[in-house]
Amino acid sequence: MRLIRFEQMGRTAYGILDGEKISVLWGLPYEGGLANTTGEVMSLPEVTLLAPCEPSKIIALGLNYRDHAAEFGNPVPDEPLIFMKPSTAVIGPDEVIVYPAMSRRVDYEAELAVVLGKTARHVPEEKAFDYVLGYTCFNDVTARDLQKKDGQFTRAKGFDTFAAMGPWIETDIGDPDRLEVEAVLNGARKQHSNTSNMVFGVATLISFISRIMTLLPGDVIATGTPSGIGPMQVGDVVEIKVEKIGTLRNQVVAERVKA
Ligand code: MG
Repeated sequence: MRLIRFEQMGRTAYGILDGEKISVLWGLPYEGGLANTTGEVMSLPEVTLLAPCEPSKIIALGLNYRDHAAEFGNPVPDEPLIFMKPSTAVIGPDEVIVYPAMSRRVDYEAELAVVLGKTARHVPEEKAFDYVLGYTCFNDVTARDLQKKDGQFTRAKGFDTFAAMGPWIETDIGDPDRLEVEAVLNGARKQHSNTSNMVFGVATLISFISRIMTLLPGDVIATGTPSGIGPMQVGDVVEIKVEKIGTLRNQVVAERVKA
């Protein structure tokens, strides 16, 4: 099942997407909300897709692919290495990524993202998938120069528009640890790997993070990026493709700072 969040004539709602047909939901898609449709049916061309959820927080993974750790010259971590991106960084499909005036190097990072469907705290690995609503494509946009300069990630990963996600949440994906992940920049493939190359798989990540902090419905785990990261320029179009989900597309624009 594909879940979308959309805007239409000034209202925002969640819906179930089947082909181009949208079954509108009463409320949120969590905790049984998927069963509560309004009866209203719309079609995809009538709406504007938004980021498919509104996370209270995004937990992202550093160095979770062996090849990416190697390209950074870093050892593979012995525990998941996590950082956070603010909720204010979220954008959806076809929204623009703003290249900050403060940075000289802004990179794409293609990632599989997990969307939580239930409140999760101290979840054992074998129950982790009970807490998943579904999966979406994620671009963990990063100001690489500032990441290196600061030594911690809040500024480099936290700019507005630096958490692109969508175009929808796919609930039926089979094994999330066996999916092709790609980044395509202006039509040229730049990253290509499979989530089977992750150091820590999805169930391990959910269990690990839930032993640190409470994960809420709609929260997002960005599972890390493979090798092949690289810079984007103003005007570029970046696509993140994840097998069985689809393509997230965004364009990069220059920041216009208000005087
Ligand atoms: Mg990343």
